[in-house]
Amino acid sequence: MLVVALTGGIGSGKTTVSQLFEAFGIPVIDTDIISRQLVAPGEVTLEAIINQFGPSVLSADRSLNRTKLRQIIFQNTEKKAQLESILHPLIRKEVARQISKLTAPYCIVVIPLLIESNQEKIADRILVVDTSEFAQLARVTLRDNQTENEVAAIISAQVSPNKRLAAADEVIHNNGSLKELKQQVAILHQKYLTYNQASEQANLPFDLR
Ligand code: ADP
Repeated sequence: MLVVALTGGIGSGKTTVSQLFEAFGIPVIDTDIISRQLVAPGEVTLEAIINQFGPSVLSADRSLNRTKLRQIIFQNTEKKAQLESILHPLIRKEVARQISKLTAPYCIVVIPLLIESNQEKIADRILVVDTSEFAQLARVTLRDNQTENEVAAIISAQVSPNKRLAAADEVIHNNGSLKELKQQVAILHQKYLTYNQASEQANLPFDLR
């Protein structure tokens, strides 16, 4: 099955775009949800993280204190790599497991930090949602009740738009209305259906193509 990785900066519109693909009946796998499930209380992955980073990464209710963990790995590349070596193989395995159960012409896998974490190979196509920093600031401050400075700090810790665009096979420009966004998704949906047909044909014995 054709696997499309969907990525973009905070507030670029990944969730909105994935919902638009879902409206076409296309399954969406969200790696944010997978990584939260992996570290739920009682999961072995949480134990592995506690062993690596110490009990200070736990909240009083014994759930993972994500803010604390983020502080530990922020600007500490070694610790960040340690965390990624625990999480990424498990996320990849779970994505593969979920894909294997799907029957659809293609699927969307949402990977917010695709470029930052060098996971490009997980997908056949990379779809980037590109948005101006102005729109990101406006939308996230409205959505998450965070200050512009807080959102700007998150944006600057993420990969630059140019790097993201350089990795893209397809780009959605989300600076306009929701209607314009929908139109772009509709066009891409047709394109991915065609790609899927082409790749299925390529898998057929030559004389049956
Ligand atoms: P992400 O998942 O990339 O963080 P979201 O899809 O949650 O981004 O979008 C951020 C916010 O901006 C949400 O509240 C969403 O409803 C809103 N939004 C996204 N695209 C548009 C748009 N084209 N016009 C207006 N609001 C938008």
